[in-house]
Amino acid sequence: MERTRVLEELIAETCGGCGRAPDKVKIMAVTKTHPVEAAGCAARYGLPCVGENRVQEAVDKMVKADFPIPWELIGHLQSNKSALAARHFARIQSVDSVKLVHRLDRCCETENRTLPVLLQVNTAKDETKFGIPPEDAPALLEAALLAPRLRVEGFMTIAPLTGDRNDARRAFAALRELRDSLAAEFRVELPELSMGMTGDLREAIEEGSTCVRVGSALFGPREE
Ligand SMILES: *Cc1c(COP(=O)(O)O)cnc(C)c1O
Repeated sequence: MERTRVLEELIAETCGGCGRAPDKVKIMAVTKTHPVEAAGCAARYGLPCVGENRVQEAVDKMVKADFPIPWELIGHLQSNKSALAARHFARIQSVDSVKLVHRLDRCCETENRTLPVLLQVNTAKDETKFGIPPEDAPALLEAALLAPRLRVEGFMTIAPLTGDRNDARRAFAALRELRDSLAAEFRVELPELSMGMTGDLREAIEEGSTCVRVGSALFGPREE
């Protein structure tokens, strides 16, 4: 995939410019709205994971996939889809309420599995986006750390879609600072910062992203 090489070069160049190691920035291929073959391409190329924002669409693809790659949920999870999500996803990046923490923990008990999760924070306080407000993040983290079947690996955010890259940068910096202070307060490691999409990759990497979620730059524009 030529586009993946171009993306890797952009990441390497951005990392070079801010003194980070490129291998600390994972590329998640976001395959929503694309057929299962898109995930197949990502797997063959050796990308570490694919992301989907709808549970049913993702599960429909997983059952067709004849290649191994971890599938992660990056879209809002409705309570009635928790059991399905807990059964099928390798990780859920969009945990955004205490209620969802408890529900997922119960579902994982039934499935007899441990589920890695990220907590989604609405750092920009963007009305249109899901994610917990930053001031409620400590309570959400506490609940998630106490959930025996969940393993909290870090945080996820979506930058406000204002088109202003400075707004995106502020949202990413806010997530990093929130992570740093909560990791210290709770004395835990929260290494993963999932931030940055096609339009705001550079800012995300410069602010410490460890996982960029890339759709259009890899698979072209979506009709949504
Ligand atoms: C669709 C989506 C992406 C990828 O967006 P692109 O702009 O196509 O790279 C990343 N993260 C989330 C949460 C998404 O829903």
